[in-house]
Amino acid sequence: MTSFFADRALLPEGWAADVAIEVANGTISTVTVGSSPDIGSTRLHGLVLPGLANAHSHAFHRALRSRTHALGGSFWTWRDLMYEAAHKLTPDTYHDLARAVFAEMLEAGFTAVGEFHYLHHQADGTPYSDPNAMAEGLIAAADAVGIRITLLDTVYLHGGLDADGYHPLSPSQLRFADESIDRYLARSLALAPESPLATIGTAIHSVRAVDPNSMRVIANDLDRPTHAHVSEQLEENVQCLAAHGSTPMQLLFEAGVLSPSFTAVHATHLTAHDLELAGTAGSSVCFCPTTERDLADGIGPAIELTRAGASLCIGSDSHAVIDPFEEMRAIEMHERLSSHERGVFEAEGLIAAASSNGYESIGWSGGGRIAVGAPADVVCVALGSARMAGADPALPGDAVVFAAGAGDVSDVIVGGRHVVREGAHESISVAAELDRTITALFA
Ligand SMILES: [Zn+2]
Repeated sequence: MTSFFADRALLPEGWAADVAIEVANGTISTVTVGSSPDIGSTRLHGLVLPGLANAHSHAFHRALRSRTHALGGSFWTWRDLMYEAAHKLTPDTYHDLARAVFAEMLEAGFTAVGEFHYLHHQADGTPYSDPNAMAEGLIAAADAVGIRITLLDTVYLHGGLDADGYHPLSPSQLRFADESIDRYLARSLALAPESPLATIGTAIHSVRAVDPNSMRVIANDLDRPTHAHVSEQLEENVQCLAAHGSTPMQLLFEAGVLSPSFTAVHATHLTAHDLELAGTAGSSVCFCPTTERDLADGIGPAIELTRAGASLCIGSDSHAVIDPFEEMRAIEMHERLSSHERGVFEAEGLIAAASSNGYESIGWSGGGRIAVGAPADVVCVALGSARMAGADPALPGDAVVFAAGAGDVSDVIVGGRHVVREGAHESISVAAELDRTITALFA
């Protein structure tokens, strides 16, 4: 039995003081409010949050941070640079890079990650002798640093889309693709992680890379959380309308993909009907505001989706920034820029998006909550920095969302294991490992 004592903690029913949290087998076994600390319990000073989920990640994109801006251009220019980085990775180098990136996430306060993984094969498209070598490397990397992971094993079959149909894969896309949806299923169903902190989901890369018949197979044959990039760029909508006469969301709906276990990633450029489809299905939408602004995608309809019935969560996607507080804050700030109104979202609603909604989206149902039976994942935000100084004790949620940054995270616990203390990961030097692995990739 492990126990923690929080000065203030955000429970499902709201903020509470002097909260004793006991953990057994990686799960919260008791939560007692108004308690006093036991000898032997670990004190968590500051504001204690439930675990935060990074529901959309491509770990290798982290290597591109600050290296893609000089060229200007668009999302599509950036994508060419991303393909170059992808081309260089092997199972060993990807394991080491991902281990450092996942540790960076932990230090920033993310306790769980939905890793949208499409870098499956060798650079020329030939499978490795173990066809899941890359996915297993990512799961091992997560296990090594103690982050919870849902490996969203991605279907990627085509090189693009226009009025004439699907394009063949370009040479730089060969390693992303399985030969057919049946080959995907055979490969993916062999993934069976042993770690209690790992599970498997599916991702449909996008309507550009997956045809409706293959989407239908995913919807019918797999009972997994399923994610897809949806309408990140206007050009995707134009291509999809030209080829299918439907928007991407409509196409996914018609293929039977939309459901409570589906997450539309980005959902930036939606029609009123798209909003209704996502909301009526009770699907999730994952906003990645720091990436969406970095890639000049646009501002998605966060509040309209929420009002329509969709469940909002967050991701750091390309890792231009890894900071859950910045993602939460940006959802509200982008709404302000587009609506000219302040206070569209409440702070606690944004924290719920990052915590319980994110856990639900990546298949850890009931997680992201400080409650009996939930995974024992919590994050402690310290109050001692210049950023947090002077925060109103009566508005702890506002302090978290509108003042804190990744650097204010003092402690992170995942599955009852104390993986970050005083802001530093327990076993690896994150900056040194990022520097080593990224420098080697571009050498
Ligand atoms: Zn993405």
